[in-house]
Amino acid sequence: MKPQLLESSYSELVETVASLGQPRYRADQILKWVWGGAASSIDDMTDLPAGFRQKLAASCRLFTLEPIEERVSRDGQTRKVLFQLEDGKSVESAHMTYEATESSRERRTVCVSTQVGCSIRCSFCATGQQGFERNLRTGEILEQVLYFVRLAQAGGRKAGGGRSTGEPRGARPTPSETVSSPPAARRPLTNVVFMGMGEPLANYEAVKGAIARLNSSRGLGLGARLITVSTVGLVPQIQRLAKEDIHVELAVSLHAASDRVRNLLVPVNKRYPLAKLIPACREYLEATGRRPTFEYALFNGINDSLDQAGKLAELLTGFECHVNLIPGNPTPSKEFRPSVARRVAAFQRELTEAGISNTLRQSRGADIEAGCGQLRSRRLQRQD
Ligand code: SAH
Repeated sequence: MKPQLLESSYSELVETVASLGQPRYRADQILKWVWGGAASSIDDMTDLPAGFRQKLAASCRLFTLEPIEERVSRDGQTRKVLFQLEDGKSVESAHMTYEATESSRERRTVCVSTQVGCSIRCSFCATGQQGFERNLRTGEILEQVLYFVRLAQAGGRKAGGGRSTGEPRGARPTPSETVSSPPAARRPLTNVVFMGMGEPLANYEAVKGAIARLNSSRGLGLGARLITVSTVGLVPQIQRLAKEDIHVELAVSLHAASDRVRNLLVPVNKRYPLAKLIPACREYLEATGRRPTFEYALFNGINDSLDQAGKLAELLTGFECHVNLIPGNPTPSKEFRPSVARRVAAFQRELTEAGISNTLRQSRGADIEAGCGQLRSRRLQRQD
């Protein structure tokens, strides 16, 4: 298979360009087109000589993901896209807009998948129920982000996804508007979160490669604190991530404050119990200065008792971290129902009174099945 241009390092790209008889600045031109979101194909890169474009297209691949289903939530703030990969498998990604508040600027966040399916099998997670198919490559992770960059640059119109474009050229912004690096306030995206399908730290090398390009000034140029990796809690990989040069934000899907309850929800807890996980998260804070976030999805009668809230406070007291409480998304299983508002409020009060920094998140895009793996699950069911 031809190499994926997005996976080339800068020096590899310079080499490719040179091997096709072009000066090295062509590599910079290509990267500006790709990361500025103004090109949907190599042929769109109109300031490259036509003959070179042809040779380049013949020597590498660029956009390979095809959007096959798109849904936008009623409030217009969440867009979910199901992409078909070159081998016919599919993954989903989401784009979420969070309006500015008194304390925070507007955020435009892309949530990417890192695997087709997932091997972890958390009992409440739609992706877990699908089983594991394969890891995504760095290029396939980056393409998900770039799809939304192109969409933003095209002014919210359909960005066109490589093989399936069909968008009239006039719908795209002119290169002069987009190729120069936009000021931070106008960046098409403000955050990338590895919180889609799959376990990012079980696909470590590909995720690391994607982070490097998202962060690079020759890539998306996104600061490390604007990139979040969410993990189910793979301890050795958290320790490894702490030693990387790029200190991304770490989110840990905790969902319970005792091993007994966590074993039910997150089976990998049997391998990496809380007594190992929490110290690894502390190490992450010490090594990187990044305050970990603990995700806690509340399910009625399962993990939302005041006893669990008290245990959670105990577990995290003295630890500079943050808890995101999320009312659980409905799942096919009857066992796991979202917590009722009263129990959510009581749980949060208990944490707050114990001095644990926390936020109650609203579940986003429930009307479009934007929860992890939900859209793909529904499609797989339809195909049965
Ligand atoms: N494997 C990684 C990345 C997946 S992120 C991880 O576990 O962190 C997806 C997030 O959605 C995780 O926090 C996951 O636990 C959560 N999630 C999955 N199904 C959910 C549901 N039904 N309700 C609420 N959160 C859910």
